[in-house]
Amino acid sequence: MFSKNTVYVKNIPIGGNNPIIIQSMTNTDTLDTESTIRQIIKLANAGAEIVRVSVRTLEDISSFKEICKNSSVPIVADIHFDYRVAIEAIKAGASKIRINPGNIGAKWKVQEVVKVAKEYNIPIRVGANSGSIKKEFENTSMPRYKALAESALQEVKIMEELEFEDIVISIKSTDAKENFLANKYISEKVPYPLHIGITEAGIYEDALVLSSAGLGALLLNNIGDTIRISIAGDPVKEVLVAKKLLTLLGFKKGPRVIACPTCARTEINVEELAIKVKEWTKNVDKSLNIAVMGCVVNGPGEAKHADIGIAGTKSGGAISINGEVVETVSYENLENTFKKYIDDLIK
Ligand code: SF4
Repeated sequence: MFSKNTVYVKNIPIGGNNPIIIQSMTNTDTLDTESTIRQIIKLANAGAEIVRVSVRTLEDISSFKEICKNSSVPIVADIHFDYRVAIEAIKAGASKIRINPGNIGAKWKVQEVVKVAKEYNIPIRVGANSGSIKKEFENTSMPRYKALAESALQEVKIMEELEFEDIVISIKSTDAKENFLANKYISEKVPYPLHIGITEAGIYEDALVLSSAGLGALLLNNIGDTIRISIAGDPVKEVLVAKKLLTLLGFKKGPRVIACPTCARTEINVEELAIKVKEWTKNVDKSLNIAVMGCVVNGPGEAKHADIGIAGTKSGGAISINGEVVETVSYENLENTFKKYIDDLIK
């Protein structure tokens, strides 16, 4: 959304003024074509707009070809070490490849990959992560974030020397602050779109908090064009968290349920009702702020900016639209009536 350049991954624009793109990665065996295709369908249904698949050796290529053919979303081939795998992955239908020119080896090999990428008109993702800081920057007085960004810039330079600028840069660290500073540094130096993520963020809860803090800081500073939340386990969770993060930060359309934290004044079961509202609206793809507040003392005021809200009263609830009370309801009718108003707004 915030870089100067835009690249296209098949029909999906990344960068410029385009929406931030959600990515994830399969964790099935690439040779198991069926399971991988099944997982891609699940990821796409959950909201992934691009999916990355590891292509480890030439042996994976025929399965990878089938995978690309059967995917409704563009597939990125994740390649390490072997330039021939990168070339074959492009020919097999990859819409973008991720390589690390540093580990592809001799320049002529990178050049061969670039030649085919140009021919097939597909972008290349390059970059660095905390595990691939260049040796010359290690053990120097240079701060680690800068060493990380400079390592990525070296990869970018290799591509530029080959007159290839259809690139996306990715810099990832396991440390949220280092990740933030490195991405900020590079975003000020080059116009290429940035793929952001906190690498190896851990299991669900840790990844959720770390990625929200680390990527949230970047996004709120207008940095990041495509996003992956790294979570150990089912990648569908990565997509759901990414979607949630983008919606709650206002970068993606979708419902937001505002709910008060409850206190001694609470007249209704706020948590239970908020959970129900989330369930009723989970497939809504337009922006809608819905407030569930425990009482009328602070509730209506705090919910004034919501499209629709309910505040608990002594006998039930007061429903408001754009801050104006439109109906007061008894406990018995509270849920049904509130749902009816929400459904009308969705329509
Ligand atoms: S809205 Fe009312 S019930 Fe909820 S936290 Fe505020 S004062 Fe308490």
